[in-house]
Amino acid sequence: MLVVRVAQGWERSTIPIHMADQIEACLHSEGLRVTSGSEYCCPVCGEFLDLDGVGRWVQEAEKSRDEAYSMVGGDGFREIVRQELQQEVYRRRRVMYELENVPRVVTARPEMILVIHDAAEATYECRIFYKEPRPSGVVEQVSVGALLDRILELRSDPDPIVRLISGKIEEFHVFRSKLTEGGEPAPERRVFYANEL
Ligand SMILES: [Zn+2]
Repeated sequence: MLVVRVAQGWERSTIPIHMADQIEACLHSEGLRVTSGSEYCCPVCGEFLDLDGVGRWVQEAEKSRDEAYSMVGGDGFREIVRQELQQEVYRRRRVMYELENVPRVVTARPEMILVIHDAAEATYECRIFYKEPRPSGVVEQVSVGALLDRILELRSDPDPIVRLISGKIEEFHVFRSKLTEGGEPAPERRVFYANEL
């Protein structure tokens, strides 16, 4: 029994080490994408980093470059390596600066959401309102078929605002369906205010 337990423990411990190696080997060459919340994700290896993690990632490149520059002398090959390490520092800094400028847009919260059921088209038309000044690049309008399956598809949308809206449309749709099933007239529109979002 004891041997089995040790073997299991050893197996488990090798998995994170292996994964850590993979993550370390990835240069996040495609840059980092903003995810919901305050994290960033590499589309190549799937590693998640917060802004501090991105800062450390930049520092790692700076350290490699400094080490290469501190070596005395050098031939043409060493010079190329130094230049490449310098380019890597610039690239990582650019990724970081771009990410630092994105969060304001992503964390923008709607002030109000208006959901209208369009009976003729069998859709929900959704208008999203923001506090002024309105952030640029945010979703203003969403239209979705009035079927639960369609509404639930929005849950996996990359845009956090669309995911938020999917929950509100779902809520309204379920509410309407219950009334309709009971033979009662269902409201055709619903407003969600900031405190409900
Ligand atoms: Zn990566």
